[in-house]
Amino acid sequence: MAGRIGVLALQGDVSEHALAFTRALGEKGEVSLFRDASDIPTFDGIALPGGESTTIMRLIHKAGMQRPLQQYEGGIFATCAGMVLLASEVQDDSLFEPLGIMDMTVKRNAFGRQRESFEADIECNGLSSPFHAIFIRAPVATRVGYGTEVLASVPQGYAAVRHGLHMAFAFHPELGGDLRFHRLFLERLGL
Ligand code: GLN
Repeated sequence: MAGRIGVLALQGDVSEHALAFTRALGEKGEVSLFRDASDIPTFDGIALPGGESTTIMRLIHKAGMQRPLQQYEGGIFATCAGMVLLASEVQDDSLFEPLGIMDMTVKRNAFGRQRESFEADIECNGLSSPFHAIFIRAPVATRVGYGTEVLASVPQGYAAVRHGLHMAFAFHPELGGDLRFHRLFLERLGL
């Protein structure tokens, strides 16, 4: 059966996610951009892009997507701002209410001004060689809940985590052309 991946197209690097999943899926499925809450249950997997988490969260509320995303039973692939949205708690910001889909605490802009954006080859569980990770005003996870697998760490915290069908990244695996994480995500969805 052909798989369906939906990319949340409210703000952020939507087309980069669509391209990466289109490549990773090949003949095995198709990628759609979505802006309507009613589309959510039709996807096997959803990508929450990087961008500006406060803006995306505001637009999620406006589109009535909060509950449908929280009730979604497929896999979620979240990068950067998407990682912030997926979290249960944002450190040092009690006003920001994330979706609470993954039990973890996330710190926004965790690398400070000097290292706002940088690239690094990092060791990752489940990959046989380092991943060239692109960090852009990135968050990190500072706490993860029981049953969450840490796939990659940096001195500031956890940079890639997995729980069930969901994966969240502080960096941007949709940039740079290395699709190994996308394939791991799709494999677990049976695609
Ligand atoms: N700093 C942004 C935020 O917290 C995330 C940056 C990104 O997605 N590249 O929303």
